[in-house]
Amino acid sequence: MGTFDILNIRNDFPILDRQVNGKPLIYLDNGATTHKPKQVIDAVVRYYADMNSNVHRGVHYLSQISTDAFEITRRKVQAFINAAHDHEVIITKGTTEAINIVATCYGRPFIGKDDEIIISAMEHHSNIVPWQMLCEEKGCKLRIIPMNERGELDLDGYRSLFSERTKLVSFTYVSNALGTVNPVKEMIDIAHRYNVPVLVDGAQAIQHLAVDVRALDVDFFAFSGHKMYGPTGVGVLYGKEELLNKMPPYQGGGDMIKDVTFEKTTYNELPFKFEAGTPNIEAGICLAEAIDYINSIGLDAIKEYEDGLLAYATEQLARVEGLRFIGTAAHKSSVISFVVDGIHPYDIGVILDKLGIAVRTGHHCAQPVMDGFQIPGTVRASLAMYNTAEEIDALTSGVERAVRMLK
Ligand code: PMP
Repeated sequence: MGTFDILNIRNDFPILDRQVNGKPLIYLDNGATTHKPKQVIDAVVRYYADMNSNVHRGVHYLSQISTDAFEITRRKVQAFINAAHDHEVIITKGTTEAINIVATCYGRPFIGKDDEIIISAMEHHSNIVPWQMLCEEKGCKLRIIPMNERGELDLDGYRSLFSERTKLVSFTYVSNALGTVNPVKEMIDIAHRYNVPVLVDGAQAIQHLAVDVRALDVDFFAFSGHKMYGPTGVGVLYGKEELLNKMPPYQGGGDMIKDVTFEKTTYNELPFKFEAGTPNIEAGICLAEAIDYINSIGLDAIKEYEDGLLAYATEQLARVEGLRFIGTAAHKSSVISFVVDGIHPYDIGVILDKLGIAVRTGHHCAQPVMDGFQIPGTVRASLAMYNTAEEIDALTSGVERAVRMLK
């Protein structure tokens, strides 16, 4: 396990030194994307300065070293999530593409008319819309796991959704809008009792909690590099070998083929079958640095620190008059969403921005969650390992100030 030294950690993130609107940046929009440590930034520069070359193609030296580096990332991801094989790690553009691969390549062949897909009431749009598109095409139906007023999924309601028509379950590990941590292992076990495979959207989990896909026995797991201190434009779809093997390719093109003639094309093996065309090489290679960085601190230490900060932020913000938390689940991670009576979240966000404090306001790409709480949106502060209690104090006094100005 690594050591948690907040000053050292903050020193690793150059952007934290900058000012916004004349004030030191306080970045609390980590659910949208995290900043990058200099180890990752340096690796991007090093890639272009030293290595730039296409992967999986050339016999020449540079192509070999960039291919090797790209494949090192795949193996680092494999170890990071404890996958059984490196070819179960498909490098994608991000979570959205990973979910779309499953909706397309598992959904089209294996889910038909009147079949059902279970998702939850707290999904990000990227875990709703791909399934709706599939339903439109195939005539299958979405069933929704209900959520209580604390923003927790109702497991009895979940169990009651299963029937012989259920073909897939897909839900988020951590809600980006509420911070709820779902009981994923229990939910996966329930689905498996009905022989239904499960996709878990890990976009808001992978940077905060240790994930072990084999211990979870999850069938598909999706996440994005840019939310885990890595580059934008790269993400991962983990899938069990057996499932990935029976799925057709996603896109056609270079790298995903074995043999091409005008009469017939045969497809490449895993993982390349799902990786048509030139990938985001630089991002793929540099994702390894982000994983090394997280490992150097240790996810257990990160979780302990972030949980403490979340508890502190909840306690401090609770003192603001008229403030109501949206999402008060017993198990939460790194996200605080709130509204203040009579004030639009956007107006609070604008005043906080003037103070150099970055939060997100609105529906957070989870409109049905907001509909469930009958609100248009929230102010969301989402934490990362580099945030501090002093930043939470500044947020709290910023919100108090905004409330005084806007009331
Ligand atoms: N799922 C969740 C829970 C998310 O928070 C996000 C990003 N906000 C996504 C999916 C989509 O991730 P990306 O935009 O990186 O594909």
